[in-house]
Amino acid sequence: MPTYDSTVEKLVKYLVVKALAGHGYAVQAVYEHIVNEISPSTLAYKYGMSKHQLRGYTQRVIEKAGSEWRAKALLRLLTPYILRVKPIIVVYGDGKAYCSYCKVEIPITKIEDHVRRRHKDLVSVIMRKILHEVTAPKTIEINKAKYYAF
Ligand SMILES: [Zn+2]
Repeated sequence: MPTYDSTVEKLVKYLVVKALAGHGYAVQAVYEHIVNEISPSTLAYKYGMSKHQLRGYTQRVIEKAGSEWRAKALLRLLTPYILRVKPIIVVYGDGKAYCSYCKVEIPITKIEDHVRRRHKDLVSVIMRKILHEVTAPKTIEINKAKYYAF
């Protein structure tokens, strides 16, 4: 059995890879499907992906989270942070993409593989930063001044 932390780390890494690869729309689609319970056919149309792809992503997120309700809770918490991650991949549109991080051209079908394999350290750093932000004390506004809420 994986520990709570390693499961969450794996899920965050999976989502960070998608965001870095420029596939933030896939994270958004999975979020809308799992959290807002919008049908796969509606989302497939909205985000220009197949229902099959969306089901695959959803299944992987649920697997990594451990259960559907945990996936729901974690996505609700994590998605705003994930969607703030800037993609490192630029897509040319002719089946090719460019990694602005290591300055190489990669086939469009290998984008996520490239990010996962070549930029493991970057993915880990962003994953830790997100987990730190998620667990950091939140600031709240009182009389226009910021106080820490404990
Ligand atoms: Zn690269």
